[in-house]
Amino acid sequence: MILEYTALYVVPTPLGNLGDLTLRAAEVLRSVAWVAAEDTRHSAPLLKHLGAAARTLPAHQHNEHEAAARIVEKLQAGESVALISDAGTPGISDPGARIVAAVRAAGCKVVPLPGACAAVTALSAAGLTDEHFLFYGFLPSKGGQRRQALESLRSQAAALVFYEAPHRVLETVEDMARVLGERTLVVARELTKLFETIESVPLADALAWLKADPNRQRGEFVLIVSGAPASADDGEGERVLALLLDEGLPTKQAAKLAAQITGAAKNALYERALALKS
Ligand code: SAM
Repeated sequence: MILEYTALYVVPTPLGNLGDLTLRAAEVLRSVAWVAAEDTRHSAPLLKHLGAAARTLPAHQHNEHEAAARIVEKLQAGESVALISDAGTPGISDPGARIVAAVRAAGCKVVPLPGACAAVTALSAAGLTDEHFLFYGFLPSKGGQRRQALESLRSQAAALVFYEAPHRVLETVEDMARVLGERTLVVARELTKLFETIESVPLADALAWLKADPNRQRGEFVLIVSGAPASADDGEGERVLALLLDEGLPTKQAAKLAAQITGAAKNALYERALALKS
């Protein structure tokens, strides 16, 4: 393949199954002069498998600025570069965004290739009928911050898409049930791999379901929670309430004002304000 442009090619790589590398991705990786990889050692077997002779340079979250400068240099010298991460699409809960921004700011071309992404793969098999989805990625690792983040998503009518590591999946699912209430949880584990599991469970039962078999807690996870039920028509009220509480208004006054502004029920907002404060 002769590359159409001198450019930074953003190339998704498989989540587990090598067959998921697209033909175009393989051709680009074989044709570029340089591959900027999140972990050059991790990506070496894939490049070898493809017969790609490109030189590699590291581009991980701790050297993105430096990597961006090197990549711009190569592009300005007329050499194309492919950007890859360990698995899936660069820039999606992975390094890449700063590099892409720097390359574009330098007036060089960025060419994205479609391909593997755990969030989209999980969504395609989740069977949730929410019209929208919100990709969140990783929640904070500390419990308090995690619950706060979940609280901020509570009234979203969209399906919520999270990434999670196996050692945190139990506590995260416990917090989801506590903060988000009655929903459906889709657990998508080890996608495209030998032990791929996709299971829908009521969020309230999810912790018990995970604990029932230690194998269910292993591997890589996408967790998708169905959106806030339509009956939660006080979503706007809660949003305004949270803003007013953030501004330091007393609980009662914040609930009253939020009810007046949005038409949501004052008592329900007051209860919610008390819960938020505690
Ligand atoms: N950039 C990647 C993408 O496009 O999906 C995501 C990278 S992020 C650092 C890694 C997280 O993605 C994992 O912790 C897990 O939550 C999710 N993930 C990656 N591969 C997966 C798989 N095979 N099955 C389920 N989740 C996966």
